[in-house]
Amino acid sequence: MVLPYLIFFILGSAVGSFLNVVIDRVPAGLTILGRSYCDRCRRALSVFDLVPILSFFILGGRCRKCKKPISRQYPTIEGLTGLIFVAAFWKAASGGNFNLIYLIFILFIFSIMIIVSAVDFKFSLIPTSLVFAASFVALFFDYFFKTSPEFAGFVIAAFLLAAFFGLIVFLTKGKGMGEGDIILAFLIGMVLGIRDGTLAVFLAFLIGATMAIFLILAGRKRFGQTIPFAPFLVLGFFISLFFATPIINYYFRLF
Ligand SMILES: [Zn+2]
Repeated sequence: MVLPYLIFFILGSAVGSFLNVVIDRVPAGLTILGRSYCDRCRRALSVFDLVPILSFFILGGRCRKCKKPISRQYPTIEGLTGLIFVAAFWKAASGGNFNLIYLIFILFIFSIMIIVSAVDFKFSLIPTSLVFAASFVALFFDYFFKTSPEFAGFVIAAFLLAAFFGLIVFLTKGKGMGEGDIILAFLIGMVLGIRDGTLAVFLAFLIGATMAIFLILAGRKRFGQTIPFAPFLVLGFFISLFFATPIINYYFRLF
């Protein structure tokens, strides 16, 4: 059945359109309510300018009035959120027993993860209050939908991963990473538990280091220059959430 996936893609791209507003306005302390407007000429956008993904291409990537370019962030986040919602539906529907509460929970967590990585990528800061709020939601989810030993395991995982990043921040005196990464690691532990959470962090370092070497070789960054780490943590989180078991099985078959 293709239809549910199509519906989730459209739903995700509409949510992505809202996430763009959060990404742009929350770090600046602006309200997320009110009409969307062009960043350049401040003209309020009409319904036809706000169709996720399509509007950007129909308008040729330019504002209808002032003709200034519209950031590629908008269709990128909309498309990405659409794809991630499709993946979330696939994840919730696979395994035979469809779980609506789990689906709503991961859609919420995924949306937070997209905001966090985009804000860190764009402004080099992590919206910590948002990550805190998501951690609470994850704590409640684990408490109500997991067995007591599982719940204890997830809480311990959250504190261990946070402590690991706390140690890095302490040892590097907050040069590379900051308190935002500590709280993000806490959230990852709360959602993934110790095995998958550790894999997510390991993948984040692996991908981050590879990317840093690539950027230095390409002359885009100098050695010692920092790059935002949250996008890598979020990438590690997504890979681990969807593929932890095959990755771990493959890894242990190597020996
Ligand atoms: Zn404009």
